[in-house]
Amino acid sequence: MFQAYKYRMYPSEEQVALLMKHIHACRFVYNHSLEQKIRAYEQEGRKLSCFDLNNRLPAFKEEHPWLKEVTSQSLQSANKNLDNAFTRFFREKKGFPKFKSKKHPVQSFQIPQHYTVDFERHRIKLPKIGEIKTVFHRVFTGEMKYATVSVTSTGKWFVSILVDDGMPAPEPAPISRDTTLGIDVGLTVTDFATFSTGEKIENPRYLRNSLRRLKVLQRRVSRKRKGSKNRQKSIQKLARCHEKIANQRNDFLHKLSFRVVSENQAQVIAVESLNVAGMQKNRCLARSISDVSWSKFFTMLDYKCLKYGKTLLRIGRFDPSSKICNRCGYLNRDLKLSHREWVCPDCGTQHDRDINAAINIKTFALRDQNLVGVSGVERTVEPGDSLPMGRRMIAGKPRPTGAG
Ligand SMILES: [Zn+2]
Repeated sequence: MFQAYKYRMYPSEEQVALLMKHIHACRFVYNHSLEQKIRAYEQEGRKLSCFDLNNRLPAFKEEHPWLKEVTSQSLQSANKNLDNAFTRFFREKKGFPKFKSKKHPVQSFQIPQHYTVDFERHRIKLPKIGEIKTVFHRVFTGEMKYATVSVTSTGKWFVSILVDDGMPAPEPAPISRDTTLGIDVGLTVTDFATFSTGEKIENPRYLRNSLRRLKVLQRRVSRKRKGSKNRQKSIQKLARCHEKIANQRNDFLHKLSFRVVSENQAQVIAVESLNVAGMQKNRCLARSISDVSWSKFFTMLDYKCLKYGKTLLRIGRFDPSSKICNRCGYLNRDLKLSHREWVCPDCGTQHDRDINAAINIKTFALRDQNLVGVSGVERTVEPGDSLPMGRRMIAGKPRPTGAG
């Protein structure tokens, strides 16, 4: 199984300059290759492969000699990443690959091989950069795959090492109704998620407080004159606040996803695909942060299920999951967003909107025609968001149930 280990690095000033050069060079190559790919396709109808792009690298280096100071393999991995972005675009209908911006809050580059770690001396040796002080707070064993070096907007450096421990992944859990947990992600800013067991998970209060602070800081930046020293200072403060929120959020998501996969009563976890298109339209800050949190949460659930032998079921987006009575199937078309509770006119059941939705997600996921992805069995495909009800793509066959 593959597992990534992330460590904080403390590079010297000269090393920072070299690392930054690697980051700039990889972004430069990535963007240049993307441009070439687009041009070759538009002008000659030709598709440039990763191999073609790597073959063009030596000539490109002659044009831009500063690229020679950067490890060739890191430049090649930029081409590889671009290739992967195109594969995802064609296979999973994800967005067309974008040019990388130097304004992105986290900048990174990859080192596929020829790096070494020294746990005892707390050093990592990177090609063309040298030994960097690194805090190895935990040790791993296994084969090191590629390393990703990143820097945050507040100047903290990290290295994430992908390690193959050579062990097979545990068998995914068989699907049965009793041990399936449905999860509905909330619509309000206070609620994070609701489980089919009736449990509601609130967004932690400290997260909400930090959001309030973020708004204040943002206002301060916009009041300062452009290009001024004070504005620069406020921007730094804002970046630190953003980073703090990201850390708090990741901590919360890690704990919650770990709790879910550790539960005995949740051998199978059912979730609804997120409405990605709808999210991108959202301009409200708190909402956009919740949206990012949910997709992160699902990604964490995905790999934690794989690691702990659980099965994750994904169904397409059912708009009416909160509008259908989980008892009798009555469709309540009049249910508005503001209605947190409702009584089914057909069978008289009193519903909490979100708990009802979570139960429906569980029920729908257990009918295999509704599935868009099963992981723990094979990699999921991206949600068939735009598929109408009843015509959903089956991407993975669920495993036969053990209990029958
Ligand atoms: Zn009913």
